[in-house]
Amino acid sequence: MFPSLRELCAGFLHLLYPELCVACQHDLPVRDTCFCLRCRLKNAPFDLTSAGDNEFTTRMWGRLPMAWGISAYHFTRKSPIQKALHQLKYHNKPEIGLVIGRELGKRMLALGLSGLEGIVPVPLHPSKERLRGYNQSSVFAQGLSEILGIPVLGKSLVRKKMTSTQTNKKRMERFQNVGDVFVVERPELLKGKHLLLVDDVLTTGATLEMCGLAILEVPDTRLSLATIAIADK
Ligand SMILES: [Zn+2]
Repeated sequence: MFPSLRELCAGFLHLLYPELCVACQHDLPVRDTCFCLRCRLKNAPFDLTSAGDNEFTTRMWGRLPMAWGISAYHFTRKSPIQKALHQLKYHNKPEIGLVIGRELGKRMLALGLSGLEGIVPVPLHPSKERLRGYNQSSVFAQGLSEILGIPVLGKSLVRKKMTSTQTNKKRMERFQNVGDVFVVERPELLKGKHLLLVDDVLTTGATLEMCGLAILEVPDTRLSLATIAIADK
């Protein structure tokens, strides 16, 4: 039997907005967030007021030239955001990335963090994305895009297994323990733009550094960075 219109609408709404707190499974009184009030109080939002000079930009300093860098939250052990990221990555909950992207987008607009012309998510290997069904960085990018009104340029940066023909030797030596290489395949999409590169968590920053350096090889690009969370090193 076909699902009724009401069932279809409920399913669609559930895709856009979670019904339960993603960290503790309690009912959500407000639907445009993924945390209940108790979990929201336990989370530590990242301070966006000094986007050009903070813990994020300090971690990347001397490695990747960027205009500014921000996260939505600090990643602390057993925090609601840690549980949310686990759900987002391993339990088929793309709506979490979408909702956190929208929340961060609203905070950015309130502070006038704008001037961006495109969002580039850190890509997954195509085989991993097929297995998971989505790229967690892309859904986060989508949430930001809805609020900021700028496009996700998802087809421009691709991830490949490193082989000697795909990268120059110098960079290969530098990132020898990562095993991946990022290549801009559609430079015309990025050329001349201030781009926001986004990922799920900033830890050492090695992946963001590799992606960012590949993007900055495209003429006249500027870069800013955003992640869902920033972990302690
Ligand atoms: Zn909760």
